[in-house]
Amino acid sequence: MIPPIASRFVAGETPATAFDHVRAANEDGVKVILNLLGEHYDDPGPAASDADTYVDIVRDIGNTDLDACVSVKPSQLGIDLGDDVFRENFRRVVEAGDEHGVFVWCDMEDHETTDVTLDAFEALAREFEGGVGLCVQANLRRTREDLDRLVDVPGKIRLVKGAYDEPASIAYTDKADVNEAYREDLEFLFKERDDGIAVGSHDPKMVSLAAELSAEYGADYEVQMLMGVREDEQRRLAAEGVEVWQYAPYGDKWFSYFYRRIRERKENALFALRAIAGV
Ligand code: FAD
Repeated sequence: MIPPIASRFVAGETPATAFDHVRAANEDGVKVILNLLGEHYDDPGPAASDADTYVDIVRDIGNTDLDACVSVKPSQLGIDLGDDVFRENFRRVVEAGDEHGVFVWCDMEDHETTDVTLDAFEALAREFEGGVGLCVQANLRRTREDLDRLVDVPGKIRLVKGAYDEPASIAYTDKADVNEAYREDLEFLFKERDDGIAVGSHDPKMVSLAAELSAEYGADYEVQMLMGVREDEQRRLAAEGVEVWQYAPYGDKWFSYFYRRIRERKENALFALRAIAGV
């Protein structure tokens, strides 16, 4: 059972609670990207089992009129166990997405997985035209070049600042440099694409920049934010007519995800302390 303080960030432990969350968010005009919690398996069994669960979820979403899709993690689908394990599991989820008309996102993890993830995404995105999206991280120095490669690939690109501590030799480590890279990458996407741009950020400056760039270049975009983070803003943007997707994790492996959210921001830690103290 998920304690109430964690349920701000996690949509329950079961598909049923996750679907309840989707329904409630949809009523506020916010669409939902479901992520089954799980990562870094050292056995192919759990990776295949998570892929099976995604196949079921995608089918169940397809059988409803809910505005929902899924996002998988490479290490959850077995990238640590071998490229083929990941590719095979990823393909199964994307095939199910294609069959049931449900979009499939792929998260991006640390830099050692970038090449394999990009290759797997590109192959599937070209085969299942328009049904797959990939996250790219502005903090990685390589990302501008990766965007040159991805810009004509069908599907969507989610630009995020990057959540992994990477070495300075391959990544911008100063926040101002990451922000500058984010702005440049975003502008590049708006110049080069007509649609399929996802702004994966809670940063009001980046959300405003996307609106300005869309007005300037005419490309369609969506904003993506995490469950439990700036939800008022998610609803406000949706009410203004912006396409808003909320990334909502669910499942029984919720503790490490919740702990990360608490550690990354002082405000979230205070929220947890207040909840524990009952004030
Ligand atoms: P920041 O500069 O960190 O924050 C800007 C402002 O946003 C803050 O001042 C605050 O007001 C608000 N804010 C930001 N975070 C929080 C928070 N946790 N709690 C409360 N307020 C907050 N990273 C990856 O490396 N790979 C992925 O696949 C990936 N997928 C993501 C998917 C989505 C939908 C989102 C939103 C993020 C994803 N990330 C991913 C994380 C991302 O890389 C950043 O670490 C994270 O979004 C924080 O950066 P920011 O752009 O929100 O801006």
